[in-house]
Amino acid sequence: MVSTGVDSSADVPSTAIYAQRLQQPYLHQHISPQSLQQSTLLRSYLSMHSNLHTLAQDCTAAPSQYVAQPYLSRVDDFRSRKGIARFRCSNHVLQIEVGRHSRGERPPVEERLCTRCDLRAVENEAHFLLDCPAYAAVRARFEQDLQLRPGTSLTVLMNSPKQCALGKFIAQCFAVRAQNC
Ligand SMILES: [Zn+2]
Repeated sequence: MVSTGVDSSADVPSTAIYAQRLQQPYLHQHISPQSLQQSTLLRSYLSMHSNLHTLAQDCTAAPSQYVAQPYLSRVDDFRSRKGIARFRCSNHVLQIEVGRHSRGERPPVEERLCTRCDLRAVENEAHFLLDCPAYAAVRARFEQDLQLRPGTSLTVLMNSPKQCALGKFIAQCFAVRAQNC
């Protein structure tokens, strides 16, 4: 474990100190153009952020440009906030993630196909929320709130101003998925 450098004997170490000390060494080292090339998980993560992907390409970006994602303050309901956070971190059961944890040889990304439709598409976050016909009914319910249109990108969806609706949308898609095992 890497020390944060925070003295545990200090009176009250503020979260701002932790955040600052974590940002500086980690973000610049681990979110870089090189790491983007090597990690599909990191690419998924960054594809859901409005500004991190841009910052990751810019090695000169100052740590202060990394900011907390808006959903953390906009979504009051803990379960919705947790659902969005888990989805953003690929803490889910979609095939793209299941394949990453396969025992033995990992299946190539292109073989981690959706088992809920016949499109023979990789079941990644974008397919799940935006394209898979298995969730068309859920998508229709949130079409207005989330401005779901043909061609809507995962970045745009995940940064919708209606983050509470987004949390419900993700939860309902997973509920349908669980029913269709
Ligand atoms: Zn599908």
